Amino acid sequence: MRKRIVAGNWKMNLDMEKGMSVFSEIVHMVNDERNGTQEVIICPPFPLLNQFAKLGAGIVHVGAQNCHDQASGAYTGEISAHMIKSTGANYVIIGHSERRQYFAESNELLLVKTKQALANNLKPIFCIGETLEERNNGSYFDVLRTQLKEGVFGLSEFEFEQVILAYEPVWAIGTGLTASPEQAQDIHSFIRQEIENHYNQTIANNTSILYGGSCNPGNAAALFAQSDIDGGLIGGASLKSRDFTDIVKALN
Ligand code: 13P
Repeated sequence: MRKRIVAGNWKMNLDMEKGMSVFSEIVHMVNDERNGTQEVIICPPFPLLNQFAKLGAGIVHVGAQNCHDQASGAYTGEISAHMIKSTGANYVIIGHSERRQYFAESNELLLVKTKQALANNLKPIFCIGETLEERNNGSYFDVLRTQLKEGVFGLSEFEFEQVILAYEPVWAIGTGLTASPEQAQDIHSFIRQEIENHYNQTIANNTSILYGGSCNPGNAAALFAQSDIDGGLIGGASLKSRDFTDIVKALN
């Protein structure tokens, strides 16, 4: 069966000292609540990866928020998938809407990044989601289908089996506006059907699809109770250890 996962995306927040303190609290609290069927992941900024991978001790896993599409070379300021893996991290977020929007990352580039991650034994958390305009003009199913087709359906079955998907409607990110459990379930079941159409039913059933966008301790349980929602990708609420672990508890 597919894994149930809560992942925190810290974005560009918290420094070494504050980050270590919040992460230590999360490890402690998650350890007390441990349930073997769940996976808990924190994706901090790059400078914290190595310390967190050690401190997480396999209780809380660690991922990066991005990687470069090339293996190595003259790309000043960039970080490769191999470097991320060498810190002890095992995951990487790819295609977050903030990367798509502020760094003009295309579906084609994201496919290359995903392959680079997989070649280095990092599990990609691949994000898709529509903007408010696309939601309002009714084109969102087409938008999501294209993001899947161009972004991840170029992978072989074997490669795709390593991928975690995250549905993050852009209009719900950091806005306090959450997709209702029914709205989110509607999209998650559409995504699963697309996976089945492209690959097969077994792969579709085994793929974890996370919801992201203003998920908090108050709305997490209702979202996670939906049959095709396998957990969450949490932004703001993952910066507070209590809120984040309350969301982890809502997975039960
Ligand atoms: P918020 O939970 O702050 O809305 O952010 C969601 C997100 O972008 C996670 O990747």
